[in-house]
Amino acid sequence: MEIFGKDFKPPHCPRPNCKAHLKYDQPGQWSKAGTYTTKVLGKSIQRFACHVCGGTYSRQAFSIHYWQKMHLAGHELMMMAVSGACNRQITRILKVAPSTIDHHLARLGRHNMLFHLKTIENAPPLREVVIDGFETFEFSQYYPMHLNLAIEKNSHFLYYFNDSPLRRKGRMTAYQKQRRQELEQLNGKPDPKAVEKSTKDLLGFTLRGAESAIVYSDKHPAYRRAIRSLEMNITHLTVSSKERRDHHNILWGGNLADLLLRHCGPNHKRETIAFAKRRNTM
Ligand SMILES: [Zn+2]
Repeated sequence: MEIFGKDFKPPHCPRPNCKAHLKYDQPGQWSKAGTYTTKVLGKSIQRFACHVCGGTYSRQAFSIHYWQKMHLAGHELMMMAVSGACNRQITRILKVAPSTIDHHLARLGRHNMLFHLKTIENAPPLREVVIDGFETFEFSQYYPMHLNLAIEKNSHFLYYFNDSPLRRKGRMTAYQKQRRQELEQLNGKPDPKAVEKSTKDLLGFTLRGAESAIVYSDKHPAYRRAIRSLEMNITHLTVSSKERRDHHNILWGGNLADLLLRHCGPNHKRETIAFAKRRNTM
């Protein structure tokens, strides 16, 4: 939103408990109320008074930099984050504190999610969807998880995703098996139906409003059960995950997303020290 210039008009009151929080729909519900200057911007910032709730606020309430003492270029920062640089590397390039990058990226992530949902809000329902489980982990390798991806088959547009915890599997040493047991006694085991439940939610959202659809996936049994539990006319086509994963494969959209996520995000690379400490920072 362009917030500089004399013509800026606040579209709504930023205070969440105000009746005009969603929209100013009548004239005279707000007025200008002086200005102030900050060291960060070095210019005059307009303040406004809300006549609905009686509060005041500045145009900064509508800025992505609200309350930030350092204004970094959001687009450049995002491009660094999705180009394989981990947070500490970005701090060394920009010569700022690590927490500054963490906070900026967390805010950018929230804005990107909102922007994405806003963009697909009125999009027509998908007809052909590839679903895929992207395996990664949070905190330590004892906490693996799936990012369940829904991808439009022909454009490869990543439409929506959610997550589900997994139990650590695969080859483990005797110590690792014992450690897994200790952690499971402490924190409980992940829900064995987590992938099925998340896939149901994923498709429920992705195919909302569609009369029928074709879903492509590998032969994971949770997908079949999730699709059966949805009361929709869905044709489910499966391919073995051992099939060659090139662009002739009908799951290519999912395979490509997996490749790019691992290629661009340092936290998803094998044996990395840049793994996500919490899943909301992925
Ligand atoms: Zn208000």
